Amino acid sequence: MTGSAIWHPFTQHGLCEPIPLVTHAEGALLHTADGRTVIDAVSSWWVTTHGHCHPRIMAAVAEQAQKLDQLIFAGWTHEPAEAVAAGLTAIMPPELTRVFFSDSGSTSVEVALKMALGYWHARGEARHRIVVMEHSYHGDTIGAMSVGARGVFNRPYEPLLFDVGRIPFPAAGREHDTLDALEALCREGQTAALIVEPLILGAGGMLVYGRETLKAMREICAAHGVLFIADEVMTGWGRTGTLLACEQAGIVPDILCLSKGLTGGSLPLAVTMATEPIFEAHWSTDRARMFFHSSSYTANPIACAAAAANLAIWREEPVMECVTDLAARQSAWLEKLGRFCHFENPRTLGTIAALDLRTLESGGYMDSLAPELMAFFRERDVLLRPLGNTVYVMPPYCITDDQLDDVWNAIGEAVISF
Ligand SMILES: *Cc1c(COP(=O)(O)O)cnc(C)c1O
Repeated sequence: MTGSAIWHPFTQHGLCEPIPLVTHAEGALLHTADGRTVIDAVSSWWVTTHGHCHPRIMAAVAEQAQKLDQLIFAGWTHEPAEAVAAGLTAIMPPELTRVFFSDSGSTSVEVALKMALGYWHARGEARHRIVVMEHSYHGDTIGAMSVGARGVFNRPYEPLLFDVGRIPFPAAGREHDTLDALEALCREGQTAALIVEPLILGAGGMLVYGRETLKAMREICAAHGVLFIADEVMTGWGRTGTLLACEQAGIVPDILCLSKGLTGGSLPLAVTMATEPIFEAHWSTDRARMFFHSSSYTANPIACAAAAANLAIWREEPVMECVTDLAARQSAWLEKLGRFCHFENPRTLGTIAALDLRTLESGGYMDSLAPELMAFFRERDVLLRPLGNTVYVMPPYCITDDQLDDVWNAIGEAVISF
């Protein structure tokens, strides 16, 4: 074997695609070892919110690294975690009173599912079914895959994935099919929870659906006592134009998953927030009824220091203005390019803009188009990672006008070339 021993995620090494070596980054820019400057138009896979190496977050990390690196979190606590919990409960909906830490979006989803099942177990009701939406994505661990879309990504593991109830994606004009299916599943009585990505399905292809539908789904769940889990791992932290996507529907979930932008996208950390009844269901003087979940790095102090700095940025800096401004620039570009007959379904939600390339044949995600497009953009020093024939732009909020123009011009160029 020659070269690197690294087995990269979501990478087919057999195709020998180049793997650029990045040495440093700031704002929306990545610098490579061979001297290129690349625009990070996907926020390093949807995590970077304020920009790479935000000085305030980096300073908080450096300071914390001098004080406390890691601490067992079962029965012990530390200042950065307390600051994050206090900061979160201050800006998130007041019903979400409890903060449980973990280290990735997938683990925050696993925790949410275990909390929901633990809640029903404690109440002595046999509710084990999780309801999920078609095309959804909630992570790559076994539980998270079970509640996500089935396909080429998880075929080898499918026999081990647990059964779920499925509702169709609420495409425009078909919303009632979704709501009727949810109502029917909730009526059956074994349904423990619904898990959804609010307003936009990310990995499923940046599929946008309406606020009214989201609100109606929440109401159906409430009417049947079914727990509503909002997976805001991608949509949280301003991505959709508001701090949470749920805000736009005027709803509050029973359980909320946050990760990606929680540390501004700098370090791995996640939280699962829960309402008081879910916490209380696990509260007891009986040790056998505690919430049995932990991972070694739960609430790592350095990651928490980054999250605390992120919360301070949200409190003290005009983040929402950057978000609104970026959303307007994205819409303008989408309008400009969406008119071309090479594109269909131009759609935007907050800072996210997406459109589908019209192709003769479409092989879905495995279509060779996506890697060809990726290579095309890479050659133009733009980091984009299309989902099948869906091209989307989801940049850090600090991206400059010139940088965003370069990204969209590369997309415009791509349609002429493909
Ligand atoms: C990315 C993502 C996850 C998984 O998060 P990881 O940190 O990659 O484990 C879960 N849900 C949604 C909606 C996501 O976009």
